[in-house]
Amino acid sequence: MIQKILIANRGEIALRVLRACKELGIKTVAVHSTSDADAMHVRFADESVCIGPPSCRDSYLNMHQIVAACEIAGADAVHPGYGFLSENAKFAEILESHGITFIGPTSAHIRIMGDKIEAKKTAVRLGIPVVPGSEGLISDDTEARKVAHKIGYPVIIKASAGGGGRGMKIVRTAADLQVSLAAARSESKAIFGSDCVYIEKYLEKPRHIEVQIIGDGAGKAIHLGERDCSLQRRHQKVWEEAPSPALNAKDRKKIGEIVANASAQLGYRGAGTIEFLYEDGEFYFIEMNTRLQVEHPVTEAVTGVDLVHEQIRIASGEHLSISQDKIYCSGHAIECRINAEDPINFMPSPGLITHFHTPGGLGIRIDSAVYSGYRIPPHYDSLIGKLIVHGRNRIECMMRLRRALDEFVVDGIKTTLPLFQYLIKNTDIADGNYNIHWLEDFLARKADDKA
Ligand code: ADP
Repeated sequence: MIQKILIANRGEIALRVLRACKELGIKTVAVHSTSDADAMHVRFADESVCIGPPSCRDSYLNMHQIVAACEIAGADAVHPGYGFLSENAKFAEILESHGITFIGPTSAHIRIMGDKIEAKKTAVRLGIPVVPGSEGLISDDTEARKVAHKIGYPVIIKASAGGGGRGMKIVRTAADLQVSLAAARSESKAIFGSDCVYIEKYLEKPRHIEVQIIGDGAGKAIHLGERDCSLQRRHQKVWEEAPSPALNAKDRKKIGEIVANASAQLGYRGAGTIEFLYEDGEFYFIEMNTRLQVEHPVTEAVTGVDLVHEQIRIASGEHLSISQDKIYCSGHAIECRINAEDPINFMPSPGLITHFHTPGGLGIRIDSAVYSGYRIPPHYDSLIGKLIVHGRNRIECMMRLRRALDEFVVDGIKTTLPLFQYLIKNTDIADGNYNIHWLEDFLARKADDKA
């Protein structure tokens, strides 16, 4: 078993991983920037190492500092959390070359899935359904026109190196294709350093449904059901639930089996998520995330499986602790991402939290690393906590969530809590009747009402 884990992250996810390590009796090393010296993950870890100034580039993204921190502290493994270096194949390689275990998949798998075109080709090879589109990169305008004509408008141009919902352009008519293609290429070059793009059919009203998997790296893999993450703003997830209110038992079983078989064939190691758009009873692969997801707690709530325990166990060379026939999904779980942002215009709202009171009671989980008197630094993302609620069914879960939101108090800064208080009262949300555009439409209507 791994003896000492360095957690190459901050905030709630660093704390989440730390908790799992403590439960498994593994020593922990926190790393932090100068602005995070008083952060909760630093206080709770057995040891900590300062890895640089506040800017992410110089601290949490600084591979050499992190490897040096491993050597100083004598860590034998690194858990990358999500974001930062979690999907950086080079980082995984550097660690392995220093004899340090990367708690995640092989660098080869990270690399394949980080390249959207390679990922899509791999998905096809593994029998996963994909969105119709170009077979690979689009070389010029003529090819783009041909592909778009074949699959039919609207289409979406996507950056091969894209991520975080950026670098995408929707094209509704042939007349707009050329201009959008040029814009997509230059935007992608500016953001990701590559102007490689590809084209897909644009689905008008899909849901975002993703399946959690874990593999042992030796050809065994299981799935832990799906999460519905259709409530998004600017392609960023806001509310996630498991199971999806839109799936029937047959489709659920079908996609779970496809994904578990594909992950086993790939020889995938560790936790991963395969993301789909789902429309009219069909699934379309969009990407695979080769790491723990922000929304993993909803899966933990319904399955009772601690995903970080499993990640550590597999990285230590052990087998999966569970088999597919022992995975039962029980009840319903919803996660709300609470951000330090204005709930109307979503501008970041860093600063001093003067009072922080979290809800409690049966079925409530709070994953957060903030506290009363904590000053949110302006350098990082605005997630300050996740409220995860579990109930025996969706109705109970929603009733409990409504009550929990009423109990949650964050003073001193603006947060997105009021947004959830609106959502929980909405009949579409109550009915589970929404798609990936629903939230943006709802926010636009609300803005119009105010005007
Ligand atoms: P990223 O890696 O940038 O997050 P994804 O490929 O996962 O990009 O897509 C992010 C979001 O963009 C999806 O959740 C969905 O809302 C939207 N999207 C992506 N592809 C399509 C498509 N073919 N049709 C409609 N919407 C899409």
